[in-house]
Amino acid sequence: MNKDQAKIRLEELQIILNEHSHRYYVLDDPLISDVEYDKLFRELQDIEKEFPDLIHPNSPTKRVGGAVLEEFSTLEHSMPMLSLSNALNEDELKDFYQRLRKNTGRDEIELIGEPKLDGLGVELIYRKGEFEAGATRGDGYTGEDITENLKTIPQIPMKLRGKIFPDLLEVRGEVIISKINFEKLNKEREKMGEKLFANPRNAAAGSLRQLDSKVTAHRPLEIFIYAPGKIEGFEYNTHMDLLEQFKNWGFPVNPMNQVVKNEDEMIAYFREMETDRESMPYDIDGIVVKVNDIALQNQLGMRTRTPRWAIAGKFKARTEITQIESIVAQVGRTGVLTPVANLKPVQLGGVVVSRATLHNQDEIDRKDIRVGDWVVIERAGDVIPKVIKVLKERRPKNTVSYHLPETCPVCGAKVQRVEGGVALKCVHRDCPAQLKTGIEHFVSKRAMNIDGLGEKIIDQLVDAGLLTSVADLYALKFKDLAVLERFGEKSANNLIRSIKTSQKRPLSNVIYALGIPNVGEYLARVLSDHFESLDDLLASDQETLIAIDDIGEIVAESIISFSNDPDNRKMIKVLQEYGIDPHAGDRGEKPLQGKIFVFTGSLETLTRDDAKDLVRDLGAKASGSVSAKTDYLVSGESSGSKLDKARELGIKIMNEKEFILFIKEFDVEMPDNKEQMKLF
Ligand SMILES: [Zn+2]
Repeated sequence: MNKDQAKIRLEELQIILNEHSHRYYVLDDPLISDVEYDKLFRELQDIEKEFPDLIHPNSPTKRVGGAVLEEFSTLEHSMPMLSLSNALNEDELKDFYQRLRKNTGRDEIELIGEPKLDGLGVELIYRKGEFEAGATRGDGYTGEDITENLKTIPQIPMKLRGKIFPDLLEVRGEVIISKINFEKLNKEREKMGEKLFANPRNAAAGSLRQLDSKVTAHRPLEIFIYAPGKIEGFEYNTHMDLLEQFKNWGFPVNPMNQVVKNEDEMIAYFREMETDRESMPYDIDGIVVKVNDIALQNQLGMRTRTPRWAIAGKFKARTEITQIESIVAQVGRTGVLTPVANLKPVQLGGVVVSRATLHNQDEIDRKDIRVGDWVVIERAGDVIPKVIKVLKERRPKNTVSYHLPETCPVCGAKVQRVEGGVALKCVHRDCPAQLKTGIEHFVSKRAMNIDGLGEKIIDQLVDAGLLTSVADLYALKFKDLAVLERFGEKSANNLIRSIKTSQKRPLSNVIYALGIPNVGEYLARVLSDHFESLDDLLASDQETLIAIDDIGEIVAESIISFSNDPDNRKMIKVLQEYGIDPHAGDRGEKPLQGKIFVFTGSLETLTRDDAKDLVRDLGAKASGSVSAKTDYLVSGESSGSKLDKARELGIKIMNEKEFILFIKEFDVEMPDNKEQMKLF
């Protein structure tokens, strides 16, 4: 065989082998026996051995793995691989559907339902039909280049099938290991004395991130493709059309994907998948529904980080049975005692669970939870597991009811029942437990963003008497820190610097950092839109507070009782003396700094929230009511009294179109940016 003949035969063999492996691995419908396949494969190997310069980078022989890497290089996604928002139950799925109806003005919107696989998200890149590279999802913007490992997954085509394909095709999919293969893999590892994988997802992730692709080649990885990345030179009208095209190009597409025509069908699909979950060959943890019509997807656009046209519907958390070994009372930032059960450790949804919250005394009484009880625990999302019920049939003899202590487990002060509530609370001013959790909150990223103050350091500083309130942080000196255990000079310097930087935090973060009960991050931002400074906030009365959108009576009362507390006033005064006294105007040099916008009526292409976010990002405030201070009124469809009032006051009025043109002048990223849209 001369070189020209070899070249021709190699090309033939590649086409034949690719075709057979597609029929075997993707279609599960082989035409030839394994022996016949091996014979052809060996012929290919022999020719490649004789003519090594003819070896194609995507040759079927590359499927067995290549050279061992030192480390993975990174690969930037040409379009970010962002995430989806979650619906935690049927009602939230219905809410999603209703939002779609509202935002599109249509009664029924056709969706595609897909099982949500529990694996590792990857991107595959094809140029002119040839597989070029692949990466993990990473942080969504940059992933690890795992090209060699992906080549070992026999379902992934090295060359697209058919004659017509885009110049550039990026597809996204989930790499998984089936339940059966996971069991087999762990059995083998057990035999070899190797560490077992906790679940199929970990096994898939661990296998894909091997520096030696020969190891990956031996792992039973599978893939389903479900979304586009960037595509150049191919148009399609619906997501389902695209999925069909994926199949034609040779990609495995989940056969459970289904068109759902309306809300009822969506819920039926969700229920069906949840029922079938256990009998499926691989793990799924929910469904994904996407608007089928691409033009409609584009019209709906993006929220800040997630598309408006898709959502993940999560199944109910898994439950497990275990035994309560002890119950302890924890004291939180507000002094409230929370009973926590220490459990016999148990695997639940892939993690080992050893604690569960019991919420409060009433909850314990209602469920009659005792130390020694066997209980059903549940973990939903990422929240702390909770006890669903007690298995009274398995209750050991001589158990006794549990009661929260009458004194604070940390400072020993007598606890009090919170007025009108079920919680017990340590109201002792100087309770170190409250102080410590209060400081942890104060320094956290979204509050004052002080780096290098972990739980252990805070414990040491409080125990050494160096911190008696959050304000003491600003009096800390280098020499105070230098005496701490395992605290080096560099970390001490960094911490001091970080504390100093935090003095310039914007008003919203400082309000959040104060830890006013019921005032989380969002409400802190709302308050910072309405008040000029901390003093301004502290001086507000019930009436002013309730007039603000999103602030109800309970929150208003919380703020007032916080403000009226002399200790809090003192603490804030000390903070101000240390220079922490942000004003609304200090939020940087933004183009619309200090301007006040009011939105009224319904907007067509933007949601109210997106519109508010846009002006806030430019330094303006979004207010709920028109007053003489209002600078702009943005008026949508069917605006009412606000429009009249604005006219009366001679305020600048814009319709939605004018608003969008106005805002685009500032070079902002619009939420319905087309580039961002075809992410999923
Ligand atoms: Zn206490």
